[in-house]
Amino acid sequence: MAARYQISVIFTDACNMRCAYCTTAKRPSHLDSDRLSKVARLLARTSPAPLDLNFHGGEPLLNWPRVVELVTHMRPQMGERRVSLNLCTNATHLTAERARFLADEGFNVRVSIDGRKASHTRFRKARDRKADPADLYDATLAGLRHLSKAGARVAANMVVTPNTVDDLLSNAVFLIKQGLVHLVISPVVGMPWEDRHLLALDRQLRQMSVVWRHWMRTAPTRRHEDLRRSILSEIDRATYCIGERMNQPDALVLVFGPDGRIFGDEPEIRTEKALVLGHLDHTEDLDALPSLPRTAFQLMYDREFYAPHVLRDVRRTHRLLRNRMTDLYTDLFGHAPQTNLRFSAP
Ligand code: SF4
Repeated sequence: MAARYQISVIFTDACNMRCAYCTTAKRPSHLDSDRLSKVARLLARTSPAPLDLNFHGGEPLLNWPRVVELVTHMRPQMGERRVSLNLCTNATHLTAERARFLADEGFNVRVSIDGRKASHTRFRKARDRKADPADLYDATLAGLRHLSKAGARVAANMVVTPNTVDDLLSNAVFLIKQGLVHLVISPVVGMPWEDRHLLALDRQLRQMSVVWRHWMRTAPTRRHEDLRRSILSEIDRATYCIGERMNQPDALVLVFGPDGRIFGDEPEIRTEKALVLGHLDHTEDLDALPSLPRTAFQLMYDREFYAPHVLRDVRRTHRLLRNRMTDLYTDLFGHAPQTNLRFSAP
C-alpha cells in the first residue's frame, strides 16, 4: 500500500489552442463516464492515504461534465482521507459558475498564462487559425477574474522562451498585480537557449527578489506563507526537470489517459510509450500495478527522447531556475530551503 497517491486524470487530449511549445498529443479522445467511474472505484479501494488528484488535458474544461462527475464520485472519500484537487487549464472556457464550483470544491487552479498580451500571444495561438489569439488571451484574463472573484486558489503557468525572456520580470509583475503569488516559470523545451538568453534569464530571475520584497511589505502576512511554499514547490519542480529527483518509493504516481491507458508519470508525445504501465479496462487494483522508479524526465534523459542539445538546454535552464529560486528563498526568508521534501503548491 502506498503512503501517498499522486493521481492525474487526463480528461481529454483535445485543446482549443495550439501553443507552439505544447507537447500534448492532440487526439480528439475524451474520457468517458464509464472509465471515469472506474477510476473513482479503483481509488476508493486504495488505503485512505493522502491523495493528490490532478485534473489535466489537453484542456480539461472541454470535458467539463466529467470534471464535475469525478468530484461527485470523490466526495464520499474526501471525509476519509486528505484529498487535494488540482486543475490545469487555459481558462478560456471558464465561466463565473465554473469558477465558483472550483472555488467551492477547494481546487488549486493552475492557469496557463505567460504574462502580458504581447508575450502570451507570441506562441499561444488558437486551434482555429482564423481566430485572433488576442481574443483567447482576453478570455483567459476573464477566466482569471472569475477565479479571483470566486476566491479560488490560483497559480500561473508561465512559459518563458528565448524570445520573451527579456520581459520575464515585467510579465511576473503583471501577474502579481492580478493577485497571483504562485508563478510556475517554465523555460521552454525545444527552442534553442543560447548563452545570451541564459544570461538574460539569470538577470531577470535575480531581479525577482526586489519585486517580492516590495510585495511582502504590503501583502497580508498570511500570504507570505503562500509565497514560501510556492518557491519550495518550484525548487522541487526544477529538480524533477533536471532529472535529479526519483519518484518517492512510498508514493504511487499514476496518470489515467482518456483512452484508458495508465502511465507511470505525465506523458507527452515522445515519452508516452515508455511510461505505459497498464490499461484501465484490465486493472482491478492500483497498488498491484508495476511501479516506475524513474520519472518521465529521467527516462527522457536516459533514452534521449530529444536531441542532446535540447536535453542540455533543459538541464541548463532548470539548474539556473533552481539556483535562483534557492537564492530567492534564502533572501526572503533568511535561511536556506530544505529541499529533500515534496511540497504541494499553496
Ligand atoms: S493550452 Fe495547454 S494543452 Fe492547450 S495547446 Fe496550449 S499548452 Fe497545449
